Amino acid sequence: MTGVFSLVPDGLLVPPPAGSASPGAGEDLSSYRAAGGYTPPAAPGLLLDRVEAAGLRGRGGAGFPAAVKLRAVRDAQGTPVVVANGEEGEPGSVKDRWLLRHRPHLVLDGLRLAAAVTGADRGHVYLSDAPAEQAVRRALAERPFDLPVDVVRTEHTYVAGEETAVVRRIDGGPALPTAKPPRPFESGVGGAPTLVANVETLARVAWMHARPDAMAAVAGAHLVTLAGADGAAALVEVAAGTHLKVLADLCGHGTAPAVLLGGLFGGLYGEGWRDLPLDHDGLRAAGAALGCGALHFLRPQDCPVAVATEAAAYLAAQSARQCGVCVSGTRALAGTLESVGCGEAGHDALDKLDRWSRQLPGRGACGLLDAAARIVATLLAHFPDRVDAHRHADCPACEGTAPADGLRFTVPVP
Ligand code: SF4
Repeated sequence: MTGVFSLVPDGLLVPPPAGSASPGAGEDLSSYRAAGGYTPPAAPGLLLDRVEAAGLRGRGGAGFPAAVKLRAVRDAQGTPVVVANGEEGEPGSVKDRWLLRHRPHLVLDGLRLAAAVTGADRGHVYLSDAPAEQAVRRALAERPFDLPVDVVRTEHTYVAGEETAVVRRIDGGPALPTAKPPRPFESGVGGAPTLVANVETLARVAWMHARPDAMAAVAGAHLVTLAGADGAAALVEVAAGTHLKVLADLCGHGTAPAVLLGGLFGGLYGEGWRDLPLDHDGLRAAGAALGCGALHFLRPQDCPVAVATEAAAYLAAQSARQCGVCVSGTRALAGTLESVGCGEAGHDALDKLDRWSRQLPGRGACGLLDAAARIVATLLAHFPDRVDAHRHADCPACEGTAPADGLRFTVPVP
């Protein structure tokens, strides 16, 4: 199943008007205004209070409270900068590119409001997708506000959207993470306090402003990318707490034996996945993570060991090779997993994987190492029999495992 669907009223996924669906067209100014956009900002403090009361959390992956981030930038020393971060590094996610391609004014309106709340005097839109850039530039040319905004193009990598990588790239450097602290809210673009906000987060701020009657519903909904081994993707908007079985049934993956959560960030989940709720706290309590909200459903014939091996190999290849522990850690995880998959692992391989998956999280400058460790930890936790079986016999499902190019997980923007 492919396409764009909303399971919530008053959501962000307004289909583009007929005749404007070509790349770069996007929603035009008059359509956006007719929908309630670009109304004068409320008192900045009032909007911030509303964002806080509605409990909006960032949609980049970490789920950090949006109001806390806005307030930290507002209260820091210096004149702030705001950044709409549209670089989605997770290969299984399409939501940010879809928003930028089809609803650029919604994102720009959110950037305008974030600038009003924080007192920023300039903004950036950060992206790698060419059709998205085209749509954003067209929308910027007709924007009805004065905030100077420029577009910064980056390369598409797993780590290019990490907030310190965003700052580094906008400042003219490579799109690679830096050690924290300082965090961007303390010292970001050009040393100024900087809000790096995911484009879905900004879109929700704008829509909450346009639809004060639906604040809680807008703040609580999620854009979710659903995909499976057929490579097709559906972008769906759902209320927080929706059970994953509802989403799987929606896209024809109801019989999946397992699901890969959060793009590659949230780990593999086996038995019991259908009853997991789609929200940060519920998934964290289950030892998984929502991340950017991308779900990849496995087919009955997919081997979870092969899926985990390919994911770990992809992450090892995407390591920015800045942190020694990430270089050696991701390589060791991927290499050892591969040897397990081939039936060539030593007797202590599983003990090593278990130990590394617990020791490595939090030791890199960004979340890539955490993602690799979680993939391994959840594979060992949910599929011990499948892992053990590889030590005694060839696994037919693993033959011909794809190379570490991430293609199994990459999906097109619907
Ligand atoms: S953890 Fe890995 S990917 Fe992240 S900054 Fe360090 S070396 Fe780069």
